[in-house]
Parts: sequence; structure tokens; C-alpha cells
Amino acid sequence: MSGVSLRVDIDRWRRHLATVAAATPGIVPVAKGNGYGFGLTRLAEESERLGAEAIAVGLPSEVAQVREAFAGDIVIMMPWRPDDDLARALLADTRVITTVSRVEDLAAIAALAGDLEQPPRVIIELATSMQRHGLRVADLAGVSDHLAAISLQGWTIHLPLSDQGRYVEAERLARAALSTAPATLWISHLPAAEATVLAKQLGGAGEDPAPLRLRVGTRLWLGDPGALATVATVLDVHPVRRGDRAGYRQRRISRDGWLVIMAGGTAHGIGMEAPTAAVSSRQRLVALAQGGLQATGRALSPYTIDGAKRWFLEPPHMQASLVLLTGSTAAPTIGDDLPVELRLTTALVDQVVEV
Ligand SMILES: *Cc1c(COP(=O)(O)O)cnc(C)c1O
Repeated sequence: MSGVSLRVDIDRWRRHLATVAAATPGIVPVAKGNGYGFGLTRLAEESERLGAEAIAVGLPSEVAQVREAFAGDIVIMMPWRPDDDLARALLADTRVITTVSRVEDLAAIAALAGDLEQPPRVIIELATSMQRHGLRVADLAGVSDHLAAISLQGWTIHLPLSDQGRYVEAERLARAALSTAPATLWISHLPAAEATVLAKQLGGAGEDPAPLRLRVGTRLWLGDPGALATVATVLDVHPVRRGDRAGYRQRRISRDGWLVIMAGGTAHGIGMEAPTAAVSSRQRLVALAQGGLQATGRALSPYTIDGAKRWFLEPPHMQASLVLLTGSTAAPTIGDDLPVELRLTTALVDQVVEV
């Protein structure tokens, strides 16, 4: 199939998924946004295969995309807000767990709970040094009043990626939470080994470890890059000579060669990655010598043709990109798939192909 494809060495990828799952107690696979390049439904299927008890989505609107393929609980990580009608409706869904990050929202949910058959399942988020969402420790006193109306499923702690002081912060917040109400801890971005120590420590000497859930996205789905490859189809090839013009902008071709029309454009997230992120220092110098990428309007493309990344003739179009091939002895063949570098957290591929 032509287009932009994510090729998955399926056996190797699934071995990696199983390895991460086995090493991560209480794993909660994260399936949100573009589904890490695979799409949400695909990740839901794989989470089901892994035997996970819960999956985490980002938004209320993402629940429907995992609900059929995954049989367990579905956590919505974006904190609940009273003006979101779908989030309100999902309070009644017994498979859904809602995240709450403010005492006033907890109060609002508690007030709505009277109309529901079951108390809504809720986890409460604590603010970390990330400063994204969450209650501060000082707010915890306001929580107790509302606990009777809801079904508390745990406390959630979303740590920054850097490991400086991470464990100490997790422990401090977890202790404050558990002293408010004992419940499962849902933690992001704490390595499994540290989390296991934390659970033991919080459980106390001679006690069972505190129940723990670890949310993992990137490290699970994209943690074995060797199992994944992204390719794009050569859609067309035209011989060009220095001085010819081409493209929307009728830009002049700088050297003899070929204009290669590659599948993939802005709709796939191509051209969204920092154009210089993957270039060699020589290429960067070339770009500088030419007055910088912005000044010349030229940018190195993520497409590899005949062994090297090639320049865009002009910015990518919606679904195709014009790429210059110079200094090669042969043109690529129409229909061939060639490597394209994509960031899988921003890319939208046309298909996932198992190899
Ligand atoms: C996105 C997200 C994750 C997963 O992040 P990765 O870095 O992809 O593992 C975990 N926890 C929360 C709260 C998130 O929003």
C-alpha cells in the first residue's frame, strides 16, 4: 500500500511490550492523542493482549476509541471540568475512572453523584513540581467531606521526567495522600524499580506494599525503536536541470538531478519536526553558510533517498512533499517505499503494516 507507513516487526514489538509489562507492576498502558503513531484502537487491542486491567486515555472523547477493543477500566487523565458535557456523562460509565484536580470539581461531582446508579469512580490528582494540574497538599483537608459520595479509586501523581528529587517528591505526596484516605497510587514517570521500593516503604514494615499502578506510554509503545520503521512511497520522479523552476513557489532548482515527489506532508506531521534535529553537523554548517534555513526557505527533509537525507524543494504540501535529489546516479523507482524519519508522537501514518 502506498503512502506513509509504520512498519512493525510484530513479534519483536510484542516481545518488547511483554517485557515492559512484566517489569512494571500494575501497568496502565497510556493510549492518547495520535496513539503514539499506532492509533488508539490498536493500542487498546494490544493492551488487552497484555492483560492490563486498566488503560489510560487523555481526553473524554478518546474513551469511545478504546472502549470496544479493551475490556478493563478506562482512566481519563485530563482532569474533569464541570463545563465538559461528555466528561459529565462519563461519570455514569462504570468502566470509566475520572481524574479530579481541584476540590471544587470534587464537590461538583459529589453533588452530581446523587443522580447516578453507582457512585462515580474517581482518582484525585496531586500537584507535583510539574505544576500542570492537581491539588496541593494543603487542599487535602477539603477532600474528606466529599469522599462518601464517590468511589475513590486512588491518588494520582504525575512526575516530571528528570530524576532529580523525583523519588523524594513522590514519597512526600504519596504519604500526604494516603494519610487522607488509603487508596491505590497511580504514578507516571517513576521507574518500576523505584515505584516498587516506594510501595514497600509506604506499606510500612511487615505490611503489604501500598497498591500501585504505573502509567507508561512512550517507554512501552516506542521503547524498542528497532522494532519500528517509518517509510513513505515514491509517488513520482521528474528529471530536472539547474535553473528549472518547480513547485507552488516556482523555486529555482540549484543543480541537475531529480525532483522526487514523496508521499507524506503536513497532514502526516511531516515538516512539524524541528528540521535541524536530525542533521549532521556538516549539513548544519551547509545550512548556516546558505544564510540559515529560515532565510533561504530551504530545509532538510526527513526523507532518505539513495542513502542520505535530502532537501525539500519547498515546504511540504498537505499529502505530498517535493524533494530534490542531486549528486546521485540513479533516480528512485516509483512505488518504492523509502525511509522517512517521523516523530511517532506527532505523526499520523496512513497505515500500520506488520512485517
Ligand atoms: C501522557 C501521560 C503519560 C504517558 O507519558 P509517556 O511519557 O508517554 O510515558 C503518563 N501520565 C500522564 C498523566 C500523562 O498525561
